[in-house]
Amino acid sequence: MSYVKVWADNDQLNKNEINKLKKDGLSIFEDIPKYAKNGFESIPKDQYMYFKYAGLTVQKPQDKGLFMMRVKIPTGILNYEQAVALAEIGAEYEKGTLDITTRQSIQYHWVPLEHLPEIFDRLKKVDLTTSEAEGDAPRNVVGNPLAGIDPDELFDTRPTVNEIYRFFQDNPDFSNLPRKYKISINANIYNAGHAEINDLAFTPATKVIDGKKVLGFHVKVGGGLAAKPYLAEQLNVFVTPEHVTKVAEAVTTLYRDFGYRKSRARARLKYLVADWGIEKFEEKVLELTGPLPTAGKDEIVGWNGGFFFGAHPQKQVGLNYVGISVPVGRIDSDDFLEIAELAKHYGDGELRTVNSQNLIIPNIPDHELERLLSEDIFKKFPIHPTPFTGYAMACTGNEFCNLALTNTKDKMKEIAARLDKEVSLDVPVRIYMVGCTNSCGQRHIADIGIQGLKLKTKDNELVDAYELFVGGSLAGEGHFNERLKGRIAASLISDVLKDFLLYFKKEKENGETFFAF
Ligand code: SF4
Repeated sequence: MSYVKVWADNDQLNKNEINKLKKDGLSIFEDIPKYAKNGFESIPKDQYMYFKYAGLTVQKPQDKGLFMMRVKIPTGILNYEQAVALAEIGAEYEKGTLDITTRQSIQYHWVPLEHLPEIFDRLKKVDLTTSEAEGDAPRNVVGNPLAGIDPDELFDTRPTVNEIYRFFQDNPDFSNLPRKYKISINANIYNAGHAEINDLAFTPATKVIDGKKVLGFHVKVGGGLAAKPYLAEQLNVFVTPEHVTKVAEAVTTLYRDFGYRKSRARARLKYLVADWGIEKFEEKVLELTGPLPTAGKDEIVGWNGGFFFGAHPQKQVGLNYVGISVPVGRIDSDDFLEIAELAKHYGDGELRTVNSQNLIIPNIPDHELERLLSEDIFKKFPIHPTPFTGYAMACTGNEFCNLALTNTKDKMKEIAARLDKEVSLDVPVRIYMVGCTNSCGQRHIADIGIQGLKLKTKDNELVDAYELFVGGSLAGEGHFNERLKGRIAASLISDVLKDFLLYFKKEKENGETFFAF
């Protein structure tokens, strides 16, 4: 029974679904050269939705022919040629900046339509793609940015990430899902892949089988943020790396065939898992995979929030990785290129993106570490950042995002800079800002989440304002932050946060963190 059969018989499909049955999203790649030649006016408005499959969103004002463009980077690993290509694309075709996203992708803004075919060619040459970086398809596979070099990983997840990425990428069997679909594969014991906020997550686990300790994964399904957030729930299965694709295919097939296609708001896997219950979902997975061992021992021991600042030894003796702060994830192409060149000069050219919107240079030999760290670029992008700027994140916001209600990146930077000057704490506080309920900046898992909205003044004027949420974490069972009463005008938000944090400082014990971290 295929999803086309299930849903074509159902006259309650939403508009996007009806369009997706008429034309596969990936076919947009055949149309883009024609549109690029004939100009933006040649694109019928009903075709805009398909551009998402090419990782593109038409940007406001919609008549300018400019696009937001996202490039996938599975588990955040870039080689030198890829990093250079990304820097050059930023410099040559858009505003000269790159945004590191919370899914380890790189995002550009205001990319002109006419340059898209040549950009795609340049990305293809270095084995990168924008395909399915948006749209109702498997998004970038996130995971441990230290995969393969991490003293805190149970095993190297690079081959598994690569296998899953290749299996789903541009696979026509899975290019029409009910909505976006997010996979995390991680074996770092501090949950670097943020398992619980993904649709499907593989987390480190062990099991004794036939008297031998076997390394593998536990599986979580149905997590996601936005207006109604859910933490992913665990299936009672143990999966060895060679069976990950089989399990991922089964979970994705269930989502494709039974996920909701009537309302876009309820089309995420989390609603199907919540409605069926985890036991029924597990039964259905096992019907597709055949028997799997039951769960073994969970090897997650804490949560690192996705932060890796400083220089640290790798699991390879004599090599080090260097975690760099990129404030709110925005970096000029020139700076990105300079960091890529340093990675090549002192290491092997590899560069890694982190879901906390930062960068890592891996594979630096002991004898090169000091010389690398004396480079001027680290004055701008420190490896030991100030506590508020270093631990702040922000989504795209109203500069470039069509859905944003407020500014985010500049506002978050301004707030963090003030807090760094006026509040001294002995622990970092993670503050994440988002410009609407979609929570691309993951405000739900922040110590302090800030969400933008519009507020009407007494004079009926609409002004930017924010709501505050406190106490989010993925430590232990995970806990989304909770909303504080009140809405705060943008002009007052940093005053309020300063007072709030000074109160926290006064009341807290030495070394006590905002939340378990
Ligand atoms: Fe845009 Fe909202 Fe996502 Fe921010 S959270 S990038 S404002 S959709």
